Amino acid sequence: MASLREPPPAPVRAPGTRRISARVASVNPSATLAVDAKAKALQAAGEDVIGFGAGEPDFPTPAHIVEAAVAACGRSANHHYTATAGLADLRQAIAAKTLRDSGLEAAPGQVVVTNGAKQAVYETFAALVDPGDEVLVPAPFWTTYPEAIALAGGIPVAVPTTEESGFHLTVEALEAHRTPATKVLLFVSPNNPTGAVSSRAEVEAIGQWAVEHGLWVVTDEIYEHLVYGDRSFTSMPVVVPELMDRCVVINGVAKTYAMTGWRVGWLIAPADVAGAVSNLQSHSCGNVDNVAQEAALAAVAGDLSAVAEMRTVFDQRRRTMHRMLNECRGVTCVEPEGAFYAFPSVKGLYGARLGGREIRSSLDVVEAAIEEVKVAVVPGEAFGAPGYLRLSYALGDEAMVEGVSRLAALFATAA
Ligand code: PMP
Repeated sequence: MASLREPPPAPVRAPGTRRISARVASVNPSATLAVDAKAKALQAAGEDVIGFGAGEPDFPTPAHIVEAAVAACGRSANHHYTATAGLADLRQAIAAKTLRDSGLEAAPGQVVVTNGAKQAVYETFAALVDPGDEVLVPAPFWTTYPEAIALAGGIPVAVPTTEESGFHLTVEALEAHRTPATKVLLFVSPNNPTGAVSSRAEVEAIGQWAVEHGLWVVTDEIYEHLVYGDRSFTSMPVVVPELMDRCVVINGVAKTYAMTGWRVGWLIAPADVAGAVSNLQSHSCGNVDNVAQEAALAAVAGDLSAVAEMRTVFDQRRRTMHRMLNECRGVTCVEPEGAFYAFPSVKGLYGARLGGREIRSSLDVVEAAIEEVKVAVVPGEAFGAPGYLRLSYALGDEAMVEGVSRLAALFATAA
């Protein structure tokens, strides 16, 4: 960093006249939050809207976690700044929880606590990516990844997966998109939006391929506990330990403990990356809210019974939604294996008319659904996958059945 005593370098050009910097102006609003906001606004206006947009459990945060937060409010240490990388007890508990749940051994010093996993994603790419570096992003992808990569000056490169293969990522697809500029592979299983869960053999093959080519891997494990049927979660650095020095694991309490509003996530990284991220965070938000960190501590130090209950309910809804969607005219839906989303194709409706509107894209289907039957869904366009819709099944059973029934009735009118 330049010394404060040095004169500033001579400007190479006049400052720009645009109000918003080009870098930030290029950021797209989050389509998932936009759909959710639209549904909530219509609901507030008294409309009977069913929203499939939100990516959050519909359960309350377990009581013992809320109680820990209430107690934390009364402790004066929590009223002041704390260490940027997180409370020592929480970092310790995250390291212990990670060993318990995925088998990954990490030192508490490798953990940085962030404002949700979202900030961990943002900071990881800021720390790893230089302008021009390419990051492989399996598509369909969660909307935040390409934005965070581009903000860091990197180039997100979509690596397609197909409905036919259940949206499973393959080494062949990755290899077809690797160039000399490729630095990082983003990996996420269970996947948002497709619900695909890579098998242990697939995770191992992909991890080994990354090692072979000297790539970094950023692996998002936020849905680790939401896998169904005979699927199981595999942590890439556990099955490919050679990756450890070039791997960042992202996780958080949001999905496992129904804590989306508390905003606590984390990353686990090699010491130099954890240190760099902590530096960056020290100049942006400083420490994460102490009360929320104490709530997260109660969550990760406790057992997994709450998520086991949620998983049972999600699994039933998953089967119901999958069956009902496949019964809709013009729709095909791969069975989701994890997370809480279904990702049906609506390409079969292309060329038809719905409520006086000709359907040429999944965006058209989304508009027809909200206007004709008051159902809010997210268009595949938001995930780099036109032709599909994302429906979250993290909403009440009755609302879910009613919402899909409304879609079925609308699609049945396709002419
Ligand atoms: N990763 C994935 C794959 C997600 O779906 C989400 C939430 N939609 C996040 C990270 C962010 O989670 P958080 O609420 O902890 O920021």
